[in-house]
Amino acid sequence: MNVVLMGAPGVGKGTQARYLVESRGLVHISTGDMLRAAVAGGSELGRRVEAVMAAGELVSDDLMMELVRERLQQPDAAGGWLLDGFPRTVPQAEGLAALLDDIGQAVDAVLVITAPDEEIIRRLTSRVSCRVCGKIMNRKELDPARPDVCPACGAQADPKTGEPAIYQREDDREETIRHRLEVFSTQTLAAAEALAARYPSHRIEGTGTPDEVAARVADVLG
Ligand code: ADP
Ligand code: ZN
Repeated sequence: MNVVLMGAPGVGKGTQARYLVESRGLVHISTGDMLRAAVAGGSELGRRVEAVMAAGELVSDDLMMELVRERLQQPDAAGGWLLDGFPRTVPQAEGLAALLDDIGQAVDAVLVITAPDEEIIRRLTSRVSCRVCGKIMNRKELDPARPDVCPACGAQADPKTGEPAIYQREDDREETIRHRLEVFSTQTLAAAEALAARYPSHRIEGTGTPDEVAARVADVLG
């Protein structure tokens, strides 16, 4: 099964992606993760996209198409994939459809997860991650007595760089979040519509617990 998972930043896409990948054995293709890995690795691609990402802007369609074309053609993707964070613009949606036609594949389901903007801003401004184990969590999950220690792995600092383990993503500041939401509603919703014209599409209510959202997703996927 090939699934495209769409939704505003902070809508819980990442959590639903993990559920789907595990329960349905799909290859997880997250363009945000791929780009962040490039930035962390200091590659030439990473240097090119770093400032764009920190500002909450979109990386160019050409570059994104190239990245996704390459990834979808790797052998492990033939058994079913989950695209997370792509497409985000109408040209990317059209590029994806053309690419899939080319390689004889299709999208079985497009899922668009929605939530009110204010809920999203609340969630994202309290989102922190651990540099050491990668866990993403809410500030509320930190120990108030030791808010600098990761509750999952116990790290306080990155052993390699000495940087604090717990950090907020550069693009999770309120102003940048508002900008990302605007990019989503002006560009990514149009991309969702372009896909809906070609593939089965479903809107999923993203409020409630992650399990409730997962149940709605399971419902439409059958
Ligand atoms: P979010 O948590 O906002 O859903 P992601 O982790 O998917 O975001 O992506 C983070 C950033 O990476 C985006 O704000 C954007 O700068 C860049 N990015 C990821 N995917 C794409 C894409 N398909 N097109 C353009 N830029 C992208
Ligand atoms: Zn950790």
